[in-house]
Amino acid sequence: MAAQAEKKSELYRRLPSVDELMHAPAIAALVAREGRAPVTDAARAVLEVLRAAIHRKELDAPGVEKAVHEVVLSVERELHRQLLLSLRPVINATGVILHTNLGRAPLAAEALANIQQAASGYSNLEFDLESGERGKRDSHVDRLFRRLLAGQADEAGPATVSTLVVNNNAAAVWLALNTLAAGGEVIVSRGELVEIGGSFRIPDVMAQSNGILREVGTTNRTRISDYANAISDKTRALLRVHRSNFQITGFTEQPQLKELVALARERKLPLVEDLGSGALFDLSLAGIRGEDGVLDSVRAGVDVVTYSGDKLLGGPQAGLLSGRPELIARMRSNSLFRALRVDKLTYAALEATLLAYVKGDYNAIPALRMMQLTKEEVRERADRLASEVSRNAALSAEIVEGESVVGGGAAPSAVLPTTLLALSSKKLRADELLARLRSAEPPIIARVEADRVLLDLRTVFPDQDAAVASALRAIASE
Ligand SMILES: *Cc1c(COP(=O)(O)O)cnc(C)c1O
Repeated sequence: MAAQAEKKSELYRRLPSVDELMHAPAIAALVAREGRAPVTDAARAVLEVLRAAIHRKELDAPGVEKAVHEVVLSVERELHRQLLLSLRPVINATGVILHTNLGRAPLAAEALANIQQAASGYSNLEFDLESGERGKRDSHVDRLFRRLLAGQADEAGPATVSTLVVNNNAAAVWLALNTLAAGGEVIVSRGELVEIGGSFRIPDVMAQSNGILREVGTTNRTRISDYANAISDKTRALLRVHRSNFQITGFTEQPQLKELVALARERKLPLVEDLGSGALFDLSLAGIRGEDGVLDSVRAGVDVVTYSGDKLLGGPQAGLLSGRPELIARMRSNSLFRALRVDKLTYAALEATLLAYVKGDYNAIPALRMMQLTKEEVRERADRLASEVSRNAALSAEIVEGESVVGGGAAPSAVLPTTLLALSSKKLRADELLARLRSAEPPIIARVEADRVLLDLRTVFPDQDAAVASALRAIASE
């Protein structure tokens, strides 16, 4: 026992101290590059691991000698691990275009360039260059939304629409309800009291906005008369909520938007619509039907529409409130608006994205570009990848037909025909293969169906195909 303890302390003594290690020339070079504090932390962590290994008798004398010999390399590795960014790019091979867990909409190149410009110096964010006085940050995008959402002309001329930008659509819904309905009631159909992932529940948002929810109808059927009968002197607004990722089929009834608009007008109440995804692009161009966009709601006469910036719009994370200027002005003067407003980076990305819409340049916006790909275009790339793999017997690839999903709370029926690469391995189960793809650099995210791993190249950028091919080759040759 005593001999053992002596031997252990002897082994400990062979390890350098943190101080000695920090003076090694190779470590000094690391310090110059990455800074003293992180290198010291890494050196300490490496020595700690070695001491623990000695303590557990996992290292004998030759083992310690080898570890000491490699200690600089270990410090470098540990440092790299510690300084690795946690938020990293991944390859989305799921075929879900607006994947909330993978960051929703990728930004257009113009949006990135504009972020870089706005972020690396000063800008006229809240400065009017003409008058030299203080300006409004929303003016930068309001003018573009005005163009894109110009309402129908009536006797009073074309209807104008104002737009306010907040952090996300959850904040937009809260701001609309708090401004219009605090202390009063908002009428909503029971069939629309939805939860939209990540615990966004309409009843909870309503409670937080100090509005009182007045539920009408039943889960599957709500008539316009249900709304009409519920209106009282406490009513402040009518609310319609897009059901997003949820569908009620069969024996159902829901008033048409124009019936709700007519009722709201007649009773002089604002109609608020939480559209969720909010397309500014005619989705039928991508073969998706039955999904109305922001313009449809504005034209139908909805007073305030709320929607996300990073769903079907294809821009940065944001919540947009578009509607009647006097109502939007009230929301801007809500004392909590300041807590919800967005920074210059979001305006920069949003303005560049909206400019692409003004120009009709839909291909500039990655999410819209992906939506418009045909299954034949996806197939060409899948074929090329399959031919890389099928030469190797350990991993086999087959081309199959399937569906991509728009996602981001567009109607659940919003799917696009696609071509999939179905992978199976002789050595790995499907979930193991999936995990191997996740450990590639950059990680590749795919899905499993019927014991096969499915890759949908619709959501993979074409310049990432080579990285997918090399990951597949690496897995096949293991
Ligand atoms: C996605 C969604 C929200 C939440 O929007 P965020 O931008 O994620 O805050 C709210 N309502 C509906 C109907 C949605 O689809």
